[in-house]
Amino acid sequence: MPELPEVETSRRGIEPHIIDTTISRVVIRERRLRWPVAKTVDRKLPGQTITSVGRRAKYLLINTDQGSAILHLGMSGSVCVVDHDTPASVHDHVDIEFDSGLMLRFRDPRRFGSLHWSKNPLSHRLLRNLGPEPLGDEFDGDYLWQKSRGRTVSIKQFIMNADIVVGVGNIYASESLFMAGINPRRAAGRVALHRYNALANAIKDVLSKAIKAGGTTLRDFYGGDGEAGYFQQQLEAYGREDEPCRRCDTPITAIVQGQRSTYYCKNCQT
Ligand SMILES: [Zn+2]
Repeated sequence: MPELPEVETSRRGIEPHIIDTTISRVVIRERRLRWPVAKTVDRKLPGQTITSVGRRAKYLLINTDQGSAILHLGMSGSVCVVDHDTPASVHDHVDIEFDSGLMLRFRDPRRFGSLHWSKNPLSHRLLRNLGPEPLGDEFDGDYLWQKSRGRTVSIKQFIMNADIVVGVGNIYASESLFMAGINPRRAAGRVALHRYNALANAIKDVLSKAIKAGGTTLRDFYGGDGEAGYFQQQLEAYGREDEPCRRCDTPITAIVQGQRSTYYCKNCQT
């Protein structure tokens, strides 16, 4: 599933190829995505010039002077930039064509993605109630500490809640708790401020490293087969059940929290 780093990598990969170009045509082959693609999208986009490609949480914002297309990659989606005459495969549901001869192609085999048009994307119902960006200045240990007072939910589920902070997926939650030495089962309300400082820094670090790792795939966004943008990285705890902790050699423990796998070291994480 594309996580925040993959979406950010996609944003960086496509923006240089489509900025300052004008949309000539939109081809929608399949409207039945997670939500039906409204006719407004086909009506509003042609004639608009791309001013930037932004991101909020895991939404790509294809910005114009009049508003934005809001694209979510869902469980299996990807975007790439290709020539107009590139044949579409069965899962290529949307093409946004530009006057440059290139087009932005959205592929989504499982159709959990979505595409909306909005004049004010940050006020759109999908985006307006989201927590802060993990890599932004608003997100720090003090913020997490304030938000967590009196909360009995586990720290792991707390940081995975998009109302608290966006983009901390299951793998990144496990990894950052390992880095910060915090037991994932600990109640969020019982984590001290200095530990939240360490955790916020760990979250920023883990996500930044993943984005940096994704940078090596950037060239694949143009003319590639649309599969680019998902990448592996070195994991410290996640997926390492019974393997020795990289810090203390204690075997890594696997548990399930909120139906998601958690990996942690019983010795290092308290
Ligand atoms: Zn350990």
